[in-house]
Amino acid sequence: MTPHPEAPQGADTADRPLRVGMFGGAFDPPHRAHRTLAEAALTQLGLDVLHILPTGQAWHKSRVLTPAEHRLSMCQLAFGDLPNTRIDSREVRRQGPSYTADTLQELGAEYPGAELFLVLGADQLLAFKSWVRWPEVLAQATLAVAKRATQIGADAVHDDGEEMDLSGVDLPFRRLAMPLKNISATAVRAHVGQPVSGSSELAVLVPEAVASYISQHSLYQKPP
Ligand code: ATP
Repeated sequence: MTPHPEAPQGADTADRPLRVGMFGGAFDPPHRAHRTLAEAALTQLGLDVLHILPTGQAWHKSRVLTPAEHRLSMCQLAFGDLPNTRIDSREVRRQGPSYTADTLQELGAEYPGAELFLVLGADQLLAFKSWVRWPEVLAQATLAVAKRATQIGADAVHDDGEEMDLSGVDLPFRRLAMPLKNISATAVRAHVGQPVSGSSELAVLVPEAVASYISQHSLYQKPP
């Protein structure tokens, strides 16, 4: 098979289909658990390429998202140094809501014959059947799922806690092994919005370069 032009140089894909991952999210902002999840996907799935896709119009989030240019820049800072990773702006450029089914269809056309993986956290797996055209998503990609804590609200900042129960999920999925990281973007935004919030504490939640970006651009100053 002729490798896709974006396939990493030297990848030994001659005997198997290219493995392409898609990791979508609001990334408002990208945090340390997102990064750990991307690393786990790259290594455990043996991905040749991982597309990181900040969402455009999130049909399932009522909150107005931070402008896409900031979320894209922060993704570049959070994930840009990971090997075989592409920060992909197609969803923020697309008119209308961002549907994973559309993005997977496009990726499938760009990497003909590739094996597609959709990387997500347990909360999204539990909500999966509310996704638009979810059977199409399932037909196109293997779901690769990381555990997530039950408490993912504004005060979710500790690395302990109970994990979401996936035993009732009647969908095929593959588990990604990673420590339970009780971080959410909601908690990051809440932290920054507090009257006194040190940037050193912020760097526990998000990569340092993202923490600096948030400060420089005065993001998330208003309480959520
Ligand atoms: P918010 O708090 O604003 O809802 P979030 O922290 O859930 O955001 P998203 O950008 O919505 O982050 O998530 C993108 C993807 O990353 C989703 O599949 C989500 O399940 C996953 N994810 C986010 N945080 C974690 C985490 N701590 N552990 C595992 N997966 C996570």
